[in-house]
Amino acid sequence: MVTFTNLTRAPEIGANSYLLRAGEHSVLLDAGMHPRQDGWDATPLLDQIPEDLETILISHAHHDHIGSLPLVTAAHLGAKVLMTSGTAALTEPLLHNSVNVMTRQRRELGRTDYPLYTHRGVDDSAVTWELANLNRPIRVDSSEFEFVLHDAGHVAGSVMTEIRAENHRALYTGDFNLQRQTLMLPCQHPPGPFDTLIMETTRGAQAAVPGQDRTFFEEGLLAGIRQTFERGGAVLIPVFAMGKTQEVLALLHQARIEGKIPKAPIYIGGLGRVMTEVYDRQRTLNPRQHGGLRLIPEAQPETFDPRRLPNLRLRGGHIYLLSSGMMTPHTTSHTIARLFFPREHDSIFFVGYTDPASPSGLLRKAGQGGKVDWGESGTLPVRCEVRYFDLTAHATREDILRWACEEIQPSRVLLVHGDPDAQAWFASQMALQRPKMEIVQPPPGQPIPLFSQTP
Ligand SMILES: [Zn+2]
Ligand SMILES: [Zn+2]
Repeated sequence: MVTFTNLTRAPEIGANSYLLRAGEHSVLLDAGMHPRQDGWDATPLLDQIPEDLETILISHAHHDHIGSLPLVTAAHLGAKVLMTSGTAALTEPLLHNSVNVMTRQRRELGRTDYPLYTHRGVDDSAVTWELANLNRPIRVDSSEFEFVLHDAGHVAGSVMTEIRAENHRALYTGDFNLQRQTLMLPCQHPPGPFDTLIMETTRGAQAAVPGQDRTFFEEGLLAGIRQTFERGGAVLIPVFAMGKTQEVLALLHQARIEGKIPKAPIYIGGLGRVMTEVYDRQRTLNPRQHGGLRLIPEAQPETFDPRRLPNLRLRGGHIYLLSSGMMTPHTTSHTIARLFFPREHDSIFFVGYTDPASPSGLLRKAGQGGKVDWGESGTLPVRCEVRYFDLTAHATREDILRWACEEIQPSRVLLVHGDPDAQAWFASQMALQRPKMEIVQPPPGQPIPLFSQTP
């Protein structure tokens, strides 16, 4: 029997990591780090990984899927680590950045357990990684398992993983998108039916509004930028350095070519620039739109130096595309936002998920005319415009429901990567549409059958 163990500590978008085991053979799907926990609490249940782990498959280069990888490879030197070239090229600089962040937190917050791993640890991990191609069966020596990776349409290099074992097929979606973004194409999932679907549920608590599709939000963002410029204002867009920075930069570049926004300077952060360079180098290796577009030489973003912040004077007609997306304290977007708050003609536009408890979430809730708790700066009045445009990299819950029930048609569904209310929505809707489907919310740390046990 093949078992599945959820190594995430709670049903949430946390430290994603899942263990598959068939007899002596074991496989780890992702090795993430929780974005909002600290120290060892942010890691998955690492002590449940068997010593003789054979294979580690990484779905994509977001922190909640790769953040613990150096810890896992150091503890399991014999394991084969597989990922696409896009994921490998993005993961290495992102993990080095994590070391820098943890080292800073050791200094600033006195956390003596930090960093959990070092730059040397990242280098030692990276030499064990092997590049895997899309759409080709992968067999690991002596293992019971066979895998096929399929483009997931989420960020560069992202994959869904098809798992074949004991004459059954399972599909682990990772994070995926069924619609296009500006650069990413919709996922290229394999045809169903599958026996088991291990499915992300990120947007399960967020209903799509009819008519408010990707194009609607893209046009809304561009109109918002035009209006801000017309009144002499500047625009801040808080983004993650990888994925969202490149998607929005590509959107703004296209809009400038089409005359939808004026040719204005666009600033990105240092890590955002490194990630954009990787996107440029990988442009023909990943399935994507605008495959010929090189963002650095063509969109010509300027690199923002955070050392300018103390003396910075905002200029109308400038766009600041800066991380972090959650506006975590001490990041550039958090610090620069204070300059935007007092100025009615400026705008802060959100383009992705904002955790309600994060500064981004608090600012969205406060809105223009409200007051926001801005950490060390105290409570500040917000006079600038604050709006949200949903340029998500995840499939909507309505798309996923239809896709899962009609195309994948699994007899067993394991719900992961979502908060309890998000998982509950999928569980109830899938039970309504497919009463015979087994719907499981895998309990942390408990092995359960991967495939249905009822004949
Ligand atoms: Zn992701
Ligand atoms: Zn994720």
